Amino acid sequence: MVKKELATFDDFRLARLGDTGVIVITGSAGHGVAHRLNGRCISAEKFKGKVLLDANTTGRYYWVDSVASAITEMGASGCKLCKPHIPDKDDKFLRR
Ligand SMILES: [Zn+2]
Repeated sequence: MVKKELATFDDFRLARLGDTGVIVITGSAGHGVAHRLNGRCISAEKFKGKVLLDANTTGRYYWVDSVASAITEMGASGCKLCKPHIPDKDDKFLRR
């Protein structure tokens, strides 16, 4: 697993421009939730609030190379809104 903490706004911005991996947001208890890089639940405002204003006391942001690694190695769960653990083609299949 490749994991990188997103400690600055630039780290966050660059991670979202990539096309692989997921963003894992941990809570104060340490449990993480994996989100798609372009998930609508990911926002610059939330990142700034949690990481920059709260100085990580309410959680941290990480970029992880795959959703499988995030789930199996970090114990994260897949976000129920952007569903990074469900491949796009399966989404289309389900909508048919
Ligand atoms: Zn999400």
